[in-house]
Amino acid sequence: MARMVNENDCGEETQSPEPQGPGRGAARWGPQHAGARELANLYSPGKRCQEWISVILCFSLMAFNFIHLLANFHLGHSWSILLGIVAGILTADFASGLVHWGADTWGSVDLPIFGKAFIRPFREHHIDPTAITRHDFIETNGDNCMLTIIPLANMAFNFLTLSPAEIYHIYSWYCYLFALGIFVTLTNQIHKWSHTYFGLPRWVVFLQDCHIILPRKHHRIHHVAPHETYFCITTGWLNYPLEKLGFWRSVEDLIQGVTGEKPRADDLKWAQKVK
Ligand SMILES: [Zn+2]
Ligand SMILES: [Zn+2]
Repeated sequence: MARMVNENDCGEETQSPEPQGPGRGAARWGPQHAGARELANLYSPGKRCQEWISVILCFSLMAFNFIHLLANFHLGHSWSILLGIVAGILTADFASGLVHWGADTWGSVDLPIFGKAFIRPFREHHIDPTAITRHDFIETNGDNCMLTIIPLANMAFNFLTLSPAEIYHIYSWYCYLFALGIFVTLTNQIHKWSHTYFGLPRWVVFLQDCHIILPRKHHRIHHVAPHETYFCITTGWLNYPLEKLGFWRSVEDLIQGVTGEKPRADDLKWAQKVK
């Protein structure tokens, strides 16, 4: 299959073969792409409401838990805290890859409710990668906030009900869970920054340059059609090892062997919707 870099937000690496067959001359990507316009129109007021509620609940719980983690901090925990944080970030990176791969590769926008609400943004993102840079804070972070509400609420409940001695024993585990929660919550914000080439705060660029969060150049590898590798979008730390292991390809072969479903069939269908 012809490979192309379909991201046009950097002014570089935007070369691709000429459009072939029907649809020649129509927009191949970007906001004018017919599929991108249709997908953008599927963003509904009900979905917007779900995102607002998710963001408010998630950030309130996060602040509550952070205060309680600080209040229960002991210096003796230092190494296990560090280990917990690194493990939490790695888990978040893997989870981002798994969810992203699942949505890109399987499922369809036509699935009832779920398709329009949760698969749609992934389809839109491949054919209009810069759309994410025009999404506000709520649209960018709403879905990820929803994912972490229940674990964060559970942690908050435990801070209120457990004794200080019990909290002392599970403190490192909670650091792991909190780092996991923070990085899962911020994954799409980090992803948005990886597509933003102008006006990023200096500290964000610094974190990208140090590869503490997903660097811009690193994420471009995923945006080469047919979008079959580098799915991890939190820090991207696991992309290289998973690619070397042929991890995603192996799971796809297994699923295709069992179900007969072709990976990325729905993604390809939307990409070809040029009229
Ligand atoms: Zn993707
Ligand atoms: Zn992207």
